[in-house]
Amino acid sequence: MSLEKTEAIVLKTVEWSETSLIVTLFTRDFGKVSAIAKGARRLKSPFESALDLLSLSSVVFLKKSGESLDLLTEAKLVRRFRSASVGLLPLYCGYYAGELINALTENHEPIAGLLESLCHALEELDRQASPATTILDFELQTIQRLGHMPSWRWCVACGEEIETDRQSIAFSASSGGVVCPNCAPTQRSILRIKPQTLEVLESKAMELSESGAANIVAERTPFTAHSPQVRAEIRGVMEQLVICLSERRLRMLDYLEDLKR
Ligand SMILES: [Zn+2]
Repeated sequence: MSLEKTEAIVLKTVEWSETSLIVTLFTRDFGKVSAIAKGARRLKSPFESALDLLSLSSVVFLKKSGESLDLLTEAKLVRRFRSASVGLLPLYCGYYAGELINALTENHEPIAGLLESLCHALEELDRQASPATTILDFELQTIQRLGHMPSWRWCVACGEEIETDRQSIAFSASSGGVVCPNCAPTQRSILRIKPQTLEVLESKAMELSESGAANIVAERTPFTAHSPQVRAEIRGVMEQLVICLSERRLRMLDYLEDLKR
C-alpha cells in the first residue's frame, strides 16, 4: 500500500453503504482509479463538492494491491464543470467524454496527456465552443493516445492507397479503417462514406499527429461548415469506432443525435 497524490477528474460515483461512495477517477499519474470515499454521503462530507461528476480535483489516495478498491483520503476541488448552465447538449457531451474515458481505460494504467485532453474538452464545452467540434477532436485525441487511430488512406486489408475520386468509400471500424473496392466484400460492417467525409477525418487526424496530439490547433474548420450529410457520416464513423473499441454502445451516445445537425 502506498499514499499517492495527483489530480483527477471524477468519471462516476456509486453509492456505497449509507455514508460512502465508490468513485471512479481518471488521474494524471495513475490512469483510472476506483476508490472508496468514506463519509462522502454525509451532510458534512470531508470531500465537499470535490467529488461532483466531472470536477477536476486534487486527490490523495491509498493505493491497494491486487483487486481491492483504493481508499480516497483527500479531495479538493480545483475546477468545476459548469456546462449544465450552458445547455443540455454541452452537458451531455461532457458526460459522454467521461463515459468514453471510463469505457476505454483500465485501472492503474496511466495514459500520457489524456487527463489534459479531457480537461480541455470540458473547458471548451463550458465556454460554449461548438460541441460537435469539441467532441470530434476529443474522440480523435483519445483514440490516438490509446493507439487505435484507424487507417484513413491505405486499405486495411491489402495496403493499397484508397482512390478518393469515387462516389463513396468503404470504411470498417472493426477492421480499423478504409477498405478498397476489391477487399470490401471480405470485410465486416462496412459503412459507405463520401470522399469529403474521409478528407475531414484524415486532415483532423493529421493535425493531431503533427501537433503531437497537442490540445490546441489553430484555425480549424468549424464542424457546422460541413454539409449535413458529411456531419452525419462523421458521427456515424465515430460512433462505430467507439462501439468497436468499447465493445458496447455507450449510454450517452443516444443523447448526442443533435451533433449530426
Ligand atoms: Zn484492399
